[in-house]
Amino acid sequence: MSIRFYNTMTREREAFEPINPGEVRLYTCGPTVYDFAHIGNFRAYMFEDLMKRYLVYRGYRVTHVMNLTDVDDKTIRACAATDQSLKEYTRPFIDSFYEDKKTLNIIPADVYPAATDHVQEMIAMIVILIEKEHAYQADDGSVYYRIDSFPDYGKLARIDREGMRSGVRVDTDEYEKDNVADFALWKAWTEADGEVFWESPWGKGRPGWHIECSAMAIKYLGETFDIHCGGVDNIFPHHDDEIAQSEAVTGKPFVKYWLHCAHLRVEGKKMSKSAGNFHTLRNLLDEGYSGREVRFELLSAQYRKALNFTRDGLKERRVALGRLDAFRSRLDKIAGEDAGDLPAWAATSEADFQQEMDDDLNTQGALAHLFEMVSAGNRACEGASLSPGEARAVLDLLDRLDTVLGFLQAEAVEIDPELQDLLDQRQHFRAEKNWAEADRVRDEFSARGWVVKDTSVGPELKKLNQS
Ligand code: AMP
Ligand code: ZN
Repeated sequence: MSIRFYNTMTREREAFEPINPGEVRLYTCGPTVYDFAHIGNFRAYMFEDLMKRYLVYRGYRVTHVMNLTDVDDKTIRACAATDQSLKEYTRPFIDSFYEDKKTLNIIPADVYPAATDHVQEMIAMIVILIEKEHAYQADDGSVYYRIDSFPDYGKLARIDREGMRSGVRVDTDEYEKDNVADFALWKAWTEADGEVFWESPWGKGRPGWHIECSAMAIKYLGETFDIHCGGVDNIFPHHDDEIAQSEAVTGKPFVKYWLHCAHLRVEGKKMSKSAGNFHTLRNLLDEGYSGREVRFELLSAQYRKALNFTRDGLKERRVALGRLDAFRSRLDKIAGEDAGDLPAWAATSEADFQQEMDDDLNTQGALAHLFEMVSAGNRACEGASLSPGEARAVLDLLDRLDTVLGFLQAEAVEIDPELQDLLDQRQHFRAEKNWAEADRVRDEFSARGWVVKDTSVGPELKKLNQS
């Protein structure tokens, strides 16, 4: 059986066959770094991470490029309200994006090209588009893509050609389907752009958002590559515009498989600041949730299905992770050094897990099989029917599945040296059975917002409001 992905281009589930056998070239639209990424953005990055991890698990070599949109309408507007340069303004958001990905155990891309470092490549593409009469400079000095020069325009979103208004122009980076029109490739400088501009054959200005991704994708992955992803909001206009630009320049198909994730809803509603349900990862960490719990919650529904992100959901994940950790420590106690054969119940679960994941990454089904395995495993442990070799083989299986899921291992808490010292003192007092002093140290932890739990594998530190 091969992996099947739902291709937005064909609206069908297709058997996945990369252009070069064994090798996958993947482009995922990255963050617009004008603000902190929100938890909805992370649904998209998480699904892409899962897909990449699963391709690797199934034996493919993956080259992953994720761009950083560090110049577009939103970024310029936000930057103009400060006295910083664009690079200064975007830096903290880029840094926190990397940090959040680490907290969520998202595997880094191979390259994170920033749009502002690739303006020359964008200009080169626009020059070709003008030569080929797919683009023109308008009276306002900006350069626009002539949509009726590309007969397949709008093929990804299946735009009704009747409704197209070529010759009418839209100069914003983001617009709706009912505004289908010639879109901006290069925007002439206006006062509102302040210090943000580059020199070009059309005078000073800046690139439009869509040409950024075409230029960076082609530079790093070639003219035709395997998979391009984003959230559903990227389908139109962003991805259709990318196709029109890239295919008009190269004369070749741009991408073989287009994958898009459904939007995340939060506490039953569209996430927005006014609805009070707008979360960044750091808000959730401050509330005491962990990156591991958030990761699990974001992967709990198949990527094209609705997912309603709730605090209750996070609490359920915490309980499920507790079960999983308890199962693992149970196995640890039984396991020998060398792995024997996998017990039949575990081998079946692995096959079922793979079958669900092959089916367009059905995490919901795959996770159900994982937890069935935990129940079967617990029964085997209770019945004392698990040999040390079998227990080791099940632990190895969990590690193998975790290369895909990335949340089966308890997070290693990075403890600052002062806390580590306190922890050592407490262990010392406990070893001497000096309970009064051990309790005093415990109180000191509480005062600092931590709680110490004694587990079979030693003391564990948790933030106070985590169970
Ligand atoms: P942006 O920074 O707005 O360009 O978005 C970055 C990525 O996050 C894109 O792939 C978007 O499609 C995706 N995205 C934005 N909002 C959501 C949401 N609520 N749920 C899922 N993905 C989203
Ligand atoms: Zn993009």
